[in-house]
Amino acid sequence: MTTLTKTEDAPAPTGPESFLSVRDLRVQFSTEDGIVKAVDGLSFDIERGKTLGIVGESGSGKSVTNLTILGLHNPRSTTVDGEIVLDGKELVTASDKELEKLRGNKMAMIFQDPLTALSPYYTVGRQLSEPYMKHMGASKKEAKDRAIQMLEKVGIPQPKVRFDDYPHQFSGGMRQRAMIAMALMCDPELLIADEPTTALDVTVQAQILDLLKDLQQEFGSAIIFITHDLGVIANMADDLLVMYAGRAVERGTVKEVLGTPKHPYTWGLLSSMPRLDGDIHQELTPIPGTPPSLLNPPSGCRFNPRCAYTDKVEGDLCTTARPPLADGRAAACHLTAEQKQAIFIDEIQPRLR
Ligand code: SF4
Repeated sequence: MTTLTKTEDAPAPTGPESFLSVRDLRVQFSTEDGIVKAVDGLSFDIERGKTLGIVGESGSGKSVTNLTILGLHNPRSTTVDGEIVLDGKELVTASDKELEKLRGNKMAMIFQDPLTALSPYYTVGRQLSEPYMKHMGASKKEAKDRAIQMLEKVGIPQPKVRFDDYPHQFSGGMRQRAMIAMALMCDPELLIADEPTTALDVTVQAQILDLLKDLQQEFGSAIIFITHDLGVIANMADDLLVMYAGRAVERGTVKEVLGTPKHPYTWGLLSSMPRLDGDIHQELTPIPGTPPSLLNPPSGCRFNPRCAYTDKVEGDLCTTARPPLADGRAAACHLTAEQKQAIFIDEIQPRLR
């Protein structure tokens, strides 16, 4: 059993309905230059049938977190501490064999680039049906019928004919749909979608997002949706986790976090992105500086080198003490609740109007 290392974050609440529970997750990589602290004390929960959005810049730890949940990290160079419990099963200590089985029928991932998941050497039909035979013990005919049914469900025209096509014979949008069909073949209860529509044009993107919502309703899956697109998150997710430099800095419902954000990093993200209603006159304010190196991250609050509000915090807390992330609706920042509210109303809200 993995020993839990002490975290300065309060753990997220463990509800009886929590389907996936992540507690004090720490992921570190050994590199030639030293240890990269990619995820540092992350806790969150997801219920069945709900979607958790995760946003943050590149290197914030979003994708590493999800690859670790799936057990797809490199065990030779990666150290994982903490707990990941999926429907009562501990994954950090699970064997490769157990994880492979779970990846087949309990959890699945939709990647940003379908060519990562689809082999060019095999037909789409074969790539859908073989894992189904393996994980579900189905016959060849049953697997083929299921694959055709799933291709039809994701909107591939003439699925019986397209079953025998190779991925290069599909358009980009169709390959993305085929990958979703592949991820859903075994009715996964946890679906992780990492920027699943980034490479697609807006129309196909909207179709795929609708499709994911429909399929979630049908299968009741829990979804983790990773994206940098807040418009997509507003449309897709129930809850939202904002990550910065390997830590969660804010969480709440989508409405709470996007409507009344409380963390200076979330303010920066919202001010630097086009508005959800697409107002072309909106002025964008980029966050100054760049995300820190995780080889040697800043002490205290990792956002402190880029934050415009450190002088409002008493003493040197921002550079010496990690701000804790409390339970439920919370932001990990040393500013008082009154200060956050005043800054939001006076400075941030007018920028977002
Ligand atoms: Fe900024 Fe300090 Fe709050 Fe971090 S803790 S976000 S540095 S004010």
